[in-house]
Amino acid sequence: MTPVTYGVLDLTALRHNLTRVRTLGGRARVLAVIKANAYGHGLITVARALASADGLAVARVHEAIELKQAGITSRIVVLEGFSSVDELNLLIAHDIEAVVHNDQQVRWLENCSEIDAITVWLKLDTGMNRLGFCVNNFQAAYQCLSDCSVVRSKMILMTHLANADSIGDAMTTRQINRFNSTVQGLSGEKSIANSAGILAWKDSCVDWVRPGCMLFGASPFSDKDSCFFNLKPVMGFYSRLIAVKKVQKGEAIGYGGQWRCKKATLLGVVGAGYGDGYPRHVPSGTPVLVNGVRVPLIGRVSMDMLTVDLADCSDAVVGDPVTLWGVKSLLVEEIARYADTIPYTLLCGITQRVQFLKNVDNALSINDD
Ligand SMILES: *Cc1c(COP(=O)(O)O)cnc(C)c1O
Repeated sequence: MTPVTYGVLDLTALRHNLTRVRTLGGRARVLAVIKANAYGHGLITVARALASADGLAVARVHEAIELKQAGITSRIVVLEGFSSVDELNLLIAHDIEAVVHNDQQVRWLENCSEIDAITVWLKLDTGMNRLGFCVNNFQAAYQCLSDCSVVRSKMILMTHLANADSIGDAMTTRQINRFNSTVQGLSGEKSIANSAGILAWKDSCVDWVRPGCMLFGASPFSDKDSCFFNLKPVMGFYSRLIAVKKVQKGEAIGYGGQWRCKKATLLGVVGAGYGDGYPRHVPSGTPVLVNGVRVPLIGRVSMDMLTVDLADCSDAVVGDPVTLWGVKSLLVEEIARYADTIPYTLLCGITQRVQFLKNVDNALSINDD
C-alpha cells in the first residue's frame, strides 16, 4: 500500500547526472556533495548510488560518521571541517578528510597528538567572505600545515564561488584569478567549481569539481531549467486527493479565508502540506497536477493538506494521484519560482514524514506524469 504522500527517487537519473558532470568537467575528479541528507534525497541511499564518484562531501562531522557507519567506503570530506578537538579526533579515527579554513583549526592540528594522519583540503577565501583564509594568510597556513606531522603531505587547495549562478558576472573571473595567483607555486591538487561552475565556467573545472544540486537534476540558474543542461530530476513528490467537494460561490477556503470562490467551485483536498515540505507561502495559482492535469492551488497551504480548484479536472475522485513536483513535468524549479525561492530549499525541505518508495517504475506509473 502506498502512503498518501510519498517521494520517489530515480537513481538512474542520479547516475546519468554524474555522467553529465564527468562529461562537462573534463578530466576533473568528482567530489559529489551530498550534505543536508543529500539535498533531501536520503544520505545513505544516494551515497550508495554514487559509489563511482571519486569522493563524497558533507557539511558536518556527524553526517560523515553516519556514512562511515553505514559501511560507505568512498573518500569522505567534511566541508566545514572540525569545530572542536573532539571532532578532529573523531575525523582522524574514522579516516575522514577535512576542509581547514581558520587559524583555530590549524592550532588544533599543530597540537594534535594522534598517530594517524588526516587529509586536509585547505580553503582560500577569494571574495565570498564566508569560510577560508584570506589571500594574505593562505601561504602561512599552508606552511604551518606542511610542517604538521598529523597532516598528510598531499593537501588539496580549494575555494568556493559566490556568484557562479550569475552567468557572465565579473566576480567569478576575479575569484578564479585570485585563486590561481595565490596558489601558484604551492603543490597540491586544486578545486574551485560547484554545479554552476561546472555548467558555466570552464576555467573553474580544475583537478576536482564539487557538484551538488546538478547531481539531483536541479539547475542552479534561475532562468535555465535542468533539461537545458540535459540533467534529469531525481526526486518526485507525490500525493493523492483525500476529498473532493462542491463549494458555493462566495465561500472562503481554508485558514484565514484568504481565498473566496468567485463561482461555484469543485474543490480537491490534497493530502500534503508544509508538514511534508511543500512550501507554505506559495500563492494561489501555483500549479499542481491531478491525474496529470495542471490545476491551480487555491487558499493557504496547511500542515497536512492543500486545496486545488478542480474546474479543469472535473472527473477527479478521491484517491486520484497528485504531483506536487515531478521528474518529467512540473519540475521543482517551477515550484521554486512560485515559492520565490531556489530548488535547493524545496528539496532539502522534504520532511521525515515523507517516505521514499523503492519501486520507481511502479510508483511513477501511478502518477502518469
Ligand atoms: C554546497 C557546496 C557545493 C555544492 O554546491 P552546488 O551549488 O549544490 O553545486 C560545493 N562546494 C561547497 C564548499 C559547498 O558548500
